[in-house]
Amino acid sequence: MNQSEVHALPVTLTLTVPVFNEAETIAGFLQKMTEVFAPHPAIKVDFVFVNDGSTDETLSTLLACQQQDARITVVDLSRNFGKEAAMTAGLNVAQGQVVVPIDVDLQDPPEVILEMLQLWQHGFEVVLGRRINRDSDSWAKRTTASWFYKIHNKISKPKLPENVGDFRLMDRVVVDALLTLPEAHRFMKGLFAWVGFRTAVVDYVRLPRTAGTTKFNGWSLWNFALEGLTSFSTEPLRIWTYVGMLVSGLSILFAGFIIIKVALYGADVPGYASLIVAVTFLSGLQLVGIGILGEYLGRTYIESKRRPVYLVRRLYTAAGK
Ligand code: UDP
Ligand code: MG
Repeated sequence: MNQSEVHALPVTLTLTVPVFNEAETIAGFLQKMTEVFAPHPAIKVDFVFVNDGSTDETLSTLLACQQQDARITVVDLSRNFGKEAAMTAGLNVAQGQVVVPIDVDLQDPPEVILEMLQLWQHGFEVVLGRRINRDSDSWAKRTTASWFYKIHNKISKPKLPENVGDFRLMDRVVVDALLTLPEAHRFMKGLFAWVGFRTAVVDYVRLPRTAGTTKFNGWSLWNFALEGLTSFSTEPLRIWTYVGMLVSGLSILFAGFIIIKVALYGADVPGYASLIVAVTFLSGLQLVGIGILGEYLGRTYIESKRRPVYLVRRLYTAAGK
């Protein structure tokens, strides 16, 4: 494929960037973007930064950068709504023919976007960035992530491609389709997969953060995983019918066994241990079942309020735009 020829085609590209306490990473990010896209004048790049309730100098840094660079739009959210909501805000404001959500910490190398654009020009509406290494993640994060994908893909439709994050190129039709989805709980990975469209994959090496620290800890990732499972599968609800049937079936067999035993050998009093085990096991099972019902009920409850996904304090577009 001839790269220079392909990139001579004019295209408007919006990069949507959620930022939460990232004052120290923004300048490096913009610098890198300029380096990567300057040799390709046919690609008209603009940036939508979504300030997700940062408590540091993020907003003022962004506004200062906007003074120098009219390609920057800043959406200031009223508080921290989380990365999924911030990404939705970015997609809502993005104007480009193609849109790429990207993290500000440069873990996703922007050179990959050039490869993605080539595939887009060959007719793909979605181009996924798939990381071929997870070295930048801890062992625990790698293992739990791989379990999550295994479980999720067993019980949910559509399946999530493994090792694919939010870094992807989307055509305008895909972005518009995503924006029609009404849910308030936005598990973006799942929604991205749900909308479908002609999809290609580009492999890349995910780098360590340029500066700052990760905003996700173990507990937030666990909740994120629950969000994913409950948003795209009702199997955890349905499984209890079968667990219940299995346990009752076994109890009936056990009852039959006891009746025969008593008939043959008479009643014996011991059995305290097995009784306690059965009682505690079954109450545990019931509590888990109720807990899972609660997960879904809670989500239905929140969803039924129909609150907006995020609130904007102010939208800053560059002067002269
Ligand atoms: N982020 C956000 N809101 C949040 C948490 C994170 O907008 O509540 C942004 C963050 O500023 C960064 C991106 O989401 O641009 C990815 O965050 P991070 O690098 O901490 O995640 P990781 O790469 O460790 O998964
Ligand atoms: Mg990161």
